Amino acid sequence: MLNLTGKNALVTGIANNRSIAWGIAQQLHQAGANLGVTYLPDEKGRFEKKVAELVEPLQPSLFVPCNVQDDAQIQATFDTVKEKWGKLDILIHCLAFANKEDLSGNFSSTSRQGFAQALEISTYSLIQMAGAAKPLMTEGGSIVTLTYLGGVKVIPNYNLMGIAKSGLEMSVRYLASEMGQQNIRVNGISAGPIRTLASSAVGGILDMIHHVEEVAPLRRTVTQLEVGNAAAFLCSDLSSGITGQILYVDAGYEIMGM
Ligand code: NAD
Repeated sequence: MLNLTGKNALVTGIANNRSIAWGIAQQLHQAGANLGVTYLPDEKGRFEKKVAELVEPLQPSLFVPCNVQDDAQIQATFDTVKEKWGKLDILIHCLAFANKEDLSGNFSSTSRQGFAQALEISTYSLIQMAGAAKPLMTEGGSIVTLTYLGGVKVIPNYNLMGIAKSGLEMSVRYLASEMGQQNIRVNGISAGPIRTLASSAVGGILDMIHHVEEVAPLRRTVTQLEVGNAAAFLCSDLSSGITGQILYVDAGYEIMGM
C-alpha cells in the first residue's frame, strides 16, 4: 500500500489551487506525509497569505519563503528543515519561470537575459536544491521534478522553456547517478498540459489542450491530482527500484505520432 507516514516532504511551487504542486501536496498529505511548503515571497506578502490559506487544511509543519534566485533563501529553507525536522525524505521541485514574450514568436529572438533567467529558475534550481537536500536525506530519499514534452519535441511557442526542460531532464539523470549510492532517487514527471498560472504564459496553450483532448489515447488531458498520485508513487517505497526516469503522466499523448 502507498504509505508515506513518517516521511518529511518539502513541496515547492504552490501558487494557487490550480498549481500542479497543490495536487501533489494533497496526495502526499493523503498518503500520510508530514508536509513543508515553500512559497515565492512578494513585496506585499500577497502570495504568502494566499498560499498559507490554501495549504492550511493540510497542516504543514513548515511554511517558508523561498525565491530560488536567492542563495540565502535556499540556504535558510534547508537550514529550517534541518533544525525542525532533522531529516528530509522527499523534495518536490515544481516550479518554472520564463518571460511571457519569450514564450511565443520566433525562438531565434530569445533574449540573453530571458534565457539566463529561465534556465536559472527552471533548471539550475533543481540542481541547487538537490545539493542542499542531499546531506539531509540521511535515510535515503526521493526527489521529483516536473517537466513537459516540449523538452524533448518541438511544441509551438514553448521555445526557451523547451531548452530549460531538456536541461532539467538531463539534470535528473546526472543527479540520480550521483545520489543513488545514498539511496536518493531522482525522477521527473512529464505532465500533460494543464491550465495553470505558469502555462497561461505559453502562447496557444488552450489550443494545445484541445489538441490533446482530441488525440491522446484517453481523449483528455490530465488533472493536478493525477500528477499528484504519480508523484506520491515516485516518493513511496512502491517505486524503490526506479531512479533517473521521466514518467509521462499525459493521458498517453506522448506515444502518438500526430
Ligand atoms: P504554477 O504557476 O502554479 O507554478 C509555478 C510555480 O513556480 C509557482 O508556484 C511560482 O511561485 C513558482 N516560481 C516561479 N518563479 C520562482 C522563483 N524565482 N522561486 C521560487 N518559485 C518560483 O504552474 P504549474 O503549471 O503548476 O507549474 C509547476 C511545474 O509544472 C513547472 O515546472 C511547469 O513547467 C511544470 N509543468 C506544467 C505543465 C502545465 O501544463 N501546467 C505541464 C508540464 C509541466
